Amino acid sequence: MADESLCRRCGRCCHKKLDIGGVVYMTPFPCRYLDEETNLCKVYDRRHEVNPDCLGVEEGIKRHAFPADCPYVRGLKGYVPPIEEPPAKGAERFFDLLADELGVGPEERERYKARWKVRGKGKGRRREASSPD
Ligand code: SF4
Ligand code: SF4
Repeated sequence: MADESLCRRCGRCCHKKLDIGGVVYMTPFPCRYLDEETNLCKVYDRRHEVNPDCLGVEEGIKRHAFPADCPYVRGLKGYVPPIEEPPAKGAERFFDLLADELGVGPEERERYKARWKVRGKGKGRRREASSPD
């Protein structure tokens, strides 16, 4: 069992990930059970039961789910984190591709598009890395 005190509750590992051509991308779309005010899981005690896609630490590491600065993976040799930043060119198109792949509806797209744009501003692509046990 992982040491849960390591988690800084940034909530980023609870965003949906997509593997595209062997590269894992962190999408701007959070798990439906993530409380976006507190960054805490609303079903924490039952998370694996309620959400079969919720990953424990070991599985999350194997699936490149944690951002590079997450304490669970920081300094972990050979670990490749997911890409969190939108591409420098074609960010909107890429956003739509991620949303299409995940079957995200129009309302949710609107809600997270602004965040996606802000996330990409002034930054290049960054390699960083689903849920702690
Ligand atoms: S496990 Fe890591 S990425 Fe996930 S919320 Fe905690 S600190 Fe953030
Ligand atoms: S811990 Fe699992 S179920 Fe809870 S918000 Fe994160 S990914 Fe979703």
